[in-house]
Amino acid sequence: MPPVQCPRCNIIVNVDDVPESFRQRAAACVQSGSVVSAVRLLHSEAGQPLGNAKALAQHLAKRPGLCQRCGRSIGTAELASCSKCKALTVSW
Ligand SMILES: [Zn+2]
Ligand SMILES: [Zn+2]
Repeated sequence: MPPVQCPRCNIIVNVDDVPESFRQRAAACVQSGSVVSAVRLLHSEAGQPLGNAKALAQHLAKRPGLCQRCGRSIGTAELASCSKCKALTVSW
């Protein structure tokens, strides 16, 4: 999957190079309220460039199936743009 640009903040998010084993762990960090932990995990352990680690962590779903920004239902696609606020959500 090519990198995707968030229609709301224009940040480029690349999900391709993150190993499967880190995806659930990063999602769990964000779902428990720690975006910082997700950045650290994706950068220091999964080897993502810091910019992409931050972009990913900021766009991860805080609750499964809901827009990370406004909470609207967005379905189950890995990458989905919100129909209300346009923000991109990464669902892992
Ligand atoms: Zn965004
Ligand atoms: Zn939204």
